[in-house]
Amino acid sequence: MKKMTGRLLSISAALLLLTNSVTAFAEQGSANIVSASSVPESAQSAQAGSGGSASEGTTEKKSAPIIMNQGVRQNSYELGLGGATVTMIKGKESGQQLAIVVKSNDGRIIVVDGGFKTNAPYLGEYIKANGGKVAVWLLTHPHVDHVGALDVMLEQQRSGNPKDFAKIDLGEIYYSFAPMDFYKAHEQEYRLPVIQESYDDIAAYDQSKVHYNSPAGTSFDIGNVNVQILNQPYLFDIDTGNNSSICYMLTINGKKILITGDLPYEAAEQLLKDRGAAALKADVVQLAHHGQHGGSFAFYSAVGAKYALWPTPQSLWDKRDEAFTEDQQTYTIALTRHWMNKLSVEQNFVMADGDWTFR
Ligand SMILES: [Zn+2]
Repeated sequence: MKKMTGRLLSISAALLLLTNSVTAFAEQGSANIVSASSVPESAQSAQAGSGGSASEGTTEKKSAPIIMNQGVRQNSYELGLGGATVTMIKGKESGQQLAIVVKSNDGRIIVVDGGFKTNAPYLGEYIKANGGKVAVWLLTHPHVDHVGALDVMLEQQRSGNPKDFAKIDLGEIYYSFAPMDFYKAHEQEYRLPVIQESYDDIAAYDQSKVHYNSPAGTSFDIGNVNVQILNQPYLFDIDTGNNSSICYMLTINGKKILITGDLPYEAAEQLLKDRGAAALKADVVQLAHHGQHGGSFAFYSAVGAKYALWPTPQSLWDKRDEAFTEDQQTYTIALTRHWMNKLSVEQNFVMADGDWTFR
């Protein structure tokens, strides 16, 4: 009964959202909408808690509602993508990952990252259910919560004993990792084996299908989806793997979706400098680094998205109401949420709720 109440609340909440009349809902049961009034005073008043972004404005804009439909899978939302769909996949994972599957209006598939190794079966089934053939695979950076699933698929395909999900046509792979020697010099040591594994797996793949280090500005179309590569990996000696994230701008039926991978503050500021604010403008932004310690206020201000995709698990999302400080010593989910509120993001879609499909 409680569950049913949650579903009904979810539906009525969605209707209310559509009519723009939501003001406040208490968090309750399996469907929640958190309004500005639910944000703790500590977060609302912390004007300076911007993680080093001096350019942050001082005007607190009307806060956006946070959509949550916990327990409801295959949440879907109409963005007007002209027959294409974009799905952020949670699958069966409970941790943070990034796995996005785009289906163009002519049925071709683009995968962004793919998530953990343990996400491979779910992702594989998902791709199979959508034709079993990937046109293009776009990688952001070689951390296991991003490249793990592809590594598994590549390894299974060349093992000669492929499991079901490895029968997929993996298509063309776009990747631009930093040089291995640079990771060896600066990346946390425990991450090096997966980075090497990714390098090796891609090196063993059909090289006629591999695009390495494409220049910034490289652009191509898959059906009605235009993909633009915004950068080559930035080489920072701190947070090196994340700072090497590649950003992709997807333009679908006039709507722009910015993929940021795990782009931290340093690379975000550099990208903003290199490309300029106009090139980053988007309707939808994937929040960098799972919604914490990613991007910057200036970066997200330039993007100016109406919709925020949080590739954020429940364990992190649970911290959204915590107080935050300028030193950013803790998870900064609350800080990022504060930024989204200040930037008048209209809706936040959170991976913790399950797969989200945009149409
Ligand atoms: Zn990540």
